[in-house]
Amino acid sequence: MMRRYKAHTVAEGWASGVIRLFRRGPRPVRPYPVKDIREEKKRYECAKEKCMRQLQELYTGALREVGELGAEEILAQRRLLQSTEYNEAVGHILTGQEVNAEYAVATVGKNMEDMYRLSDEEEQGRKADRIREVTDRLLDALDEHVPWSEWKEEGIILAADRLLPQETAQLDTSRIRGLLLTEESAHSHGAMLARSLGIPALSGIGFSEAWDGKEALLCGEKEGWLILEPEPEQQEEMKTKQREKREKKRLLEELKGKDDITPGGRRIRLYAGIAGPGGLSEVLSNDGAGIGLFRSEFLYLNRRDEPAEEEQFRIYRQLAENMAGRPVFIRTADLGSDKRRRSGLAWEENPAMGLRGIRYALEHPTLLRTQLRAIFRAAAYGDIALLYPMLTSMEELARLRKIEEAVKAELKAEEILCPDIPRGIMIETPAAALISDALAPETDFFCIGMNDLMQFVLAADRRNPKVEGLFDVQHPAVLRLLRQIIENAHRGGAWVMISGDCCETSEMTALLLKMGIDGFCVPPAQLLPMRQKIRSAAE
Ligand code: PEP
Ligand code: MG
Repeated sequence: MMRRYKAHTVAEGWASGVIRLFRRGPRPVRPYPVKDIREEKKRYECAKEKCMRQLQELYTGALREVGELGAEEILAQRRLLQSTEYNEAVGHILTGQEVNAEYAVATVGKNMEDMYRLSDEEEQGRKADRIREVTDRLLDALDEHVPWSEWKEEGIILAADRLLPQETAQLDTSRIRGLLLTEESAHSHGAMLARSLGIPALSGIGFSEAWDGKEALLCGEKEGWLILEPEPEQQEEMKTKQREKREKKRLLEELKGKDDITPGGRRIRLYAGIAGPGGLSEVLSNDGAGIGLFRSEFLYLNRRDEPAEEEQFRIYRQLAENMAGRPVFIRTADLGSDKRRRSGLAWEENPAMGLRGIRYALEHPTLLRTQLRAIFRAAAYGDIALLYPMLTSMEELARLRKIEEAVKAELKAEEILCPDIPRGIMIETPAAALISDALAPETDFFCIGMNDLMQFVLAADRRNPKVEGLFDVQHPAVLRLLRQIIENAHRGGAWVMISGDCCETSEMTALLLKMGIDGFCVPPAQLLPMRQKIRSAAE
């Protein structure tokens, strides 16, 4: 029987499909029989090779930073991974029980760890920890699992209490047509990524287990609706809306190749913000004039180790080369807050205002130096700029500059080409906004991060749907601050772009243009609608 539920729209659009519930929990490692044990052994060998490569890269970095003694633990992990004891035990379970590699690895890891834990000796305890690390590493390498890989339906509406940024980044967009999120607010990363992937999403619906497998229509308009077990005429109505949307899209297509220029003739920088190299094709297909914000922290998620210099260099170089002379703004990792790595971040009471962004980077200089090396090296292959997140003081900027200089000197000593590149900062804390007059002469550009700036200025958690109504881009406090930032930037010789979900309306776009904003950074799917707003803005 048809039922209708009211919801918040966090990403606009319509979708029809079968609801599937996504439950997160500790990964259960269960045995299952495997027919082709040779293939399973190959899977194990591949996972092992992957871990060996990761450990080699980690070792090289550690050698440089902490010397041979400090890097010894990584070598010990490599030795364990190659040891006859570990490998024969895994092989024994695989062949003897004809089960999956995950089960064999988890069992061997647990048995060996338990054995060493029996002893009170410190060295034995260290061995037990090492076995745990290596086993987890192997399980990570074996795990290509995302729950939707087991779902058979072509059109899925995924229901979850909330999605972590790294889960959203892995969504199979070819089959997942819509999202139902209980707790997500429109300004969370999950919601933003859903929008940039073009997946309609609703929040604020308390779904039940009984919904799993039921047909539904998701209508994400100004008001959001979920229709469970819809009538045929409702399905028809949605098809009409989709047709209209296609027509609108066709009109936008006609804007491809046109300039981002106001009716008064001012050229505006209109760039796209993306969360990983996967977003590149969408930027290109939407005629993006640049990548205004590459959220590099996503390279660090979904894995236990840090991306090594070479890996990052390859990615940044690939971005720069593919953008072929168009700018790519790489933001150093804004780790912390809700973008937390699997390891290395301690629990914090209030992570949005905790050790995140450059605060985390300054406490972990090796991580920052590795990233800067990769960025500076890649800059030889295109138009790359550097951007720092979550800055609050001049002292932080001075410390960052010192590290930059040291990294550059290091690269020069290695005779590695290291061009000077534009450097900018995110203005996303009230402190940065209020000292923007002092910051501007020290930087080439600002990127205003409206999601964070608004959450701090309006004291409204961007992830909390209960205070979503407080996110008013036209709040006098926000407008006053924006005006101040833009004026200060220009007075200090810097230009300013604005990023975050703040220009949904033509009115706000026009207002920002009147204030003198120089650029916008929007999700790739918003590039052409934004071009239209710029070209028709009342000045
Ligand atoms: C912002 O805060 O608005 C921003 C652009 O950065 P992020 O959304 O990645 O925090
Ligand atoms: Mg931010």
